[in-house]
Amino acid sequence: MNTKQSELLYSEACEHIVGGVNSPSRSFKGVGGGTPVFMEKGKGAYFYDVDGNRYIDFLGAYGPIITGHAHPHITHAITKAAENGTLYGTPTILENQFAKMLKNAIPSLEKVRFVNSGTEAVMTTIRVARAYTGRNKIVKFAGCYHGHSDLVLVAAGSGPATLGSPDSAGVTANIAEEVITVPFNDSNALAEVLKKWGDEIAAVLVEPIVGNFGIVDPAPGFLEKVNELTHDAGALVIYDEVITAFRFTYGGAQNLLGVTPDMTAMGKIIGGGLPIGAYGGRVDIMENVAPLGPAYQAGTMSGNPASISAGIACLEVLQQEGTYEKLEDLGSQLEQGLNKLMTNYNIPGTINRRCGALTLFFTTQKVTNYEDADKSDDRLFQQFFHKMLDRGINLAPSKYEAWFLTIAHTHQDINETLTAAEQTFKEMSE
Ligand code: PLP
Repeated sequence: MNTKQSELLYSEACEHIVGGVNSPSRSFKGVGGGTPVFMEKGKGAYFYDVDGNRYIDFLGAYGPIITGHAHPHITHAITKAAENGTLYGTPTILENQFAKMLKNAIPSLEKVRFVNSGTEAVMTTIRVARAYTGRNKIVKFAGCYHGHSDLVLVAAGSGPATLGSPDSAGVTANIAEEVITVPFNDSNALAEVLKKWGDEIAAVLVEPIVGNFGIVDPAPGFLEKVNELTHDAGALVIYDEVITAFRFTYGGAQNLLGVTPDMTAMGKIIGGGLPIGAYGGRVDIMENVAPLGPAYQAGTMSGNPASISAGIACLEVLQQEGTYEKLEDLGSQLEQGLNKLMTNYNIPGTINRRCGALTLFFTTQKVTNYEDADKSDDRLFQQFFHKMLDRGINLAPSKYEAWFLTIAHTHQDINETLTAAEQTFKEMSE
């Protein structure tokens, strides 16, 4: 495949943009290096790069793209919004309409507030939980990503009952000491932590279905136990549904799993591909937010008409009958096909899938937490990633990410992907 223009543009980018990318996950550092492809255009399930190559896209922009690129209903909504002005700084009808749509879809959102990214949404839920409980510490789960605010860039300590350490330069040790990290799906570890620090903990933060060390389901009863233990300690449960909201069903993972958090953070899909975040929850908690309460949160760009219009349009598309059945159908075809090929070519692999999102881990062991996911073989993933890219299949450049399907993908696209995977596995097995 000719990628000459991408190579030239990447070297230019490296001169002007730190690391040549505007988010580190876009670099190819996690796949042994190489040149990130410069895409020129996305349409439906496809990307077209600056050298004129076509790719089937499974990156889905790390989750937001579920209708396919440039869906006409969303594009029209954005254009219409832009014609009426891109930013008002006043309330709009659109915000009311969208808030009602979200509340109808996810009943635990008694009150919501729009922000501009998943990072902001999660960061604010933590502040509000602290304001509500008058406590400082939070608990999170190893390997879950919650954006790049200080409190969630904290690594686990040396065991479940130890305080965290900074996971980024610039995060202070004082901040890290407010965060305790436990393994996902381990309610005993959570119980231990809550026993030790229960009356200091404001909230337990969790992705109800993990998307950030690959797709990983909660074990049966795990989330119920998280609720029970957390509430017994007088703390709040926050669901980070930035990836999961509207990904697996019309609503949150909480709808699907039948477990209710006190607060929820969202982003990605609800912006239809434009920048957005939102958080919400119980009214008595949310009324702590300014201007009603003492927890301050604001935003010049928040609730902007373009993002809100794109979000409304995206949800309208998702409301159409058969959306999630189609994603399930395509996901199942992809999972079964990949599994069959891995068996045929003796490739060690495990697939975790929910509806139209899956992760292929290069390990034969079951993956239920970050430690398991970490065992996915780096070298095999790197080979797989580069060979698939050369064959026109665009995946995320990290062994921990998910493949995201869209309603624009077809069975023919999956067949084409499986043909590329067959050639790739064959070469890997030689
Ligand atoms: N929470 C989760 C679960 C995420 O996956 C992400 C981003 O990948 C975030 C929060 C942060 O969202 P954003 O990148 O919009 O700030």
